[in-house]
Amino acid sequence: MTTKAQKLLFWTVVGLSVIFLLNLWSMPTRDSRASEEQVIFSDFMAKLDQGDIDKVVIKGNNISGVLKDNSRLRTYSANYPDLVEVLRAKGVQIEVKPADETSWYGHLLMTWGPFVLFLGLWLFLMRRMQGGNQALSLAQNKARMLTDEQKKVTFSDVAGINEAKDDVQETVEFLKDPRKFRKLGGRIPKGVLLVGPPGTGKTLLAKAIAGEAGVPFFSISGSDFVEMFVGVGASRVRSLFEQAKKQAPCIIFIDEIDAVGRSRGAGVGGGNDEREQTLNQLLVEMDGFDTTEGVILVAATNRPDVLDPALLRPGRFDRQIVVNHPDLRGRSEILQVHTKKVPIAANVELEKIARGTPGFSGADLENLVNEAALWAARQNKHEVEAVDFEMAKDKIMMGAERKSMILTDEEKRVTAYHEAGHALIAKLLPGTDPVHKVSIIPRGRALGVTMQLPTDDRHSYSKEYLYNRLAILMGGRVAEELVFKHVTTGAGNDLERATDLARKMVCEWGMSDKLGPLTFGQKEKSMFLGRDFSTKRDFSGQVALEIDLEIKRLVTENYERAKQMLTAQMVSLQALALALLDKETLDASEVDEIMLQSCSQAVPV
Ligand code: ADP
Ligand code: ZN
Repeated sequence: MTTKAQKLLFWTVVGLSVIFLLNLWSMPTRDSRASEEQVIFSDFMAKLDQGDIDKVVIKGNNISGVLKDNSRLRTYSANYPDLVEVLRAKGVQIEVKPADETSWYGHLLMTWGPFVLFLGLWLFLMRRMQGGNQALSLAQNKARMLTDEQKKVTFSDVAGINEAKDDVQETVEFLKDPRKFRKLGGRIPKGVLLVGPPGTGKTLLAKAIAGEAGVPFFSISGSDFVEMFVGVGASRVRSLFEQAKKQAPCIIFIDEIDAVGRSRGAGVGGGNDEREQTLNQLLVEMDGFDTTEGVILVAATNRPDVLDPALLRPGRFDRQIVVNHPDLRGRSEILQVHTKKVPIAANVELEKIARGTPGFSGADLENLVNEAALWAARQNKHEVEAVDFEMAKDKIMMGAERKSMILTDEEKRVTAYHEAGHALIAKLLPGTDPVHKVSIIPRGRALGVTMQLPTDDRHSYSKEYLYNRLAILMGGRVAEELVFKHVTTGAGNDLERATDLARKMVCEWGMSDKLGPLTFGQKEKSMFLGRDFSTKRDFSGQVALEIDLEIKRLVTENYERAKQMLTAQMVSLQALALALLDKETLDASEVDEIMLQSCSQAVPV
């Protein structure tokens, strides 16, 4: 694209300079002009009358004359029909030239110039359209090609998703030597669909396939196909495949394929014609090439459920590879990859950081390393230390600190007790995630944070765990109430989360003894938006009442439980809150210490 624009610029400059040069040429030379004295007409006539003029050249209304003393003059005459008479009477030598005489090259330029210009423009556009009937430059492919010179990604850059790497190994082998496979007649999947949440390394994996196999990599995003103009998407697909076939063996990577690949017929107002056309064209192109040509399609999505079934049929994206959030080991490996480029202090244990970042994607971890390095640099350190990683983690998990937000002393006190309430209950109840940090520095929209971190990746939760979670959520509000005898809005979010959790326990996970192991309310897939839209009530009014009562029971039971516990442990609550007011942030070991000092007797649960 840029090279084309540069070419265009180059030729424009060349053209303009040619025109400029020709103009210079056709102008009378400086010297002859300079030596000619410009006079007004009456002076000219006076000179004529005196008989000073020897010779004139008449060119339309321009008259230049040569005087007896060989000096020259120039004037602009009126339409004076008798001029020639007068000149003859004085015996002046007369030369007449056509008024609009221009040089031959000027002529050429005037007559042929525009034609040549148009021809050039036309050729240029034709070339851009690549022989199609497509609308000007819109059809131009947006696909970017990654070539060898650009940074090559290999499997060593991709960590923590070993199963996915194994799954694409075959594709790499094929791209390395398509002929080998052709001889054996094996059928290679045309399309590989990478399914997984954002930031888990799908693009990276696709690039690594190309890098390992040493083939070109075309990448385009599904949303690039969807333009306002009808027909553009389809022609983009066409030219993308044309381009790719010329470079085979190669990889075409389509990111966010759900943008074009949504089920046809779904969409507000009877579907999106443009998108459907594009999708149809994609299907046609996929069917139209033979894998033996060596073009492999790799697409990525995090919504495989909305894809048109036609895309997933054999011979299209018939191979699906799931790329999930990395587990503990995966996270440590990814951290290793990304910390290679930064100097890390000896006290940093990547394993420990990995343990403290459950649910982080590869992109989150990369961001973590980057934030830590930035933080260390701001401190003028030469190495990134463990504390820098901790700062970065807090920033990513809890939002940036809002130093500008000034709390009144009263607000600070309430927040300190609120957070101490959460933390204390989390410490007292068995089987909960360990408290990692408590803070009353405002972050994001929260005035304070109590952060718990699981010791291992959790994939499912027990009923007890969730029940305890409800008590922890209630802890904040209860502490405020016990200490200040009045409540604030600070607990609004806690209550919302508690209610939501209790509803899920009852309606989705069958955790209520009263209602039994049933689910209530079906998630309805909206035909129109192509995604989950609303829940449909599939139970009677009687059951609805019972559900509400159960939710209420779960929440209030835990509210009471939290109240009992905090009342019994008022000394600890106060100690924690005071420490928070003093230090603003307490880490796990500080919380433990305060608990040890203040909480002596056994805890009734
Ligand atoms: P996706 O395409 O799944 O949204 P990307 O491949 O664009 O995610 O990932 C964004 C960045 O995150 C990558 O460029 C890479 O630096 C980092 N990353 C993600 N997953 C991994 C991984 N498994 N190993 C190493 N780096 C990763
Ligand atoms: Zn709270």
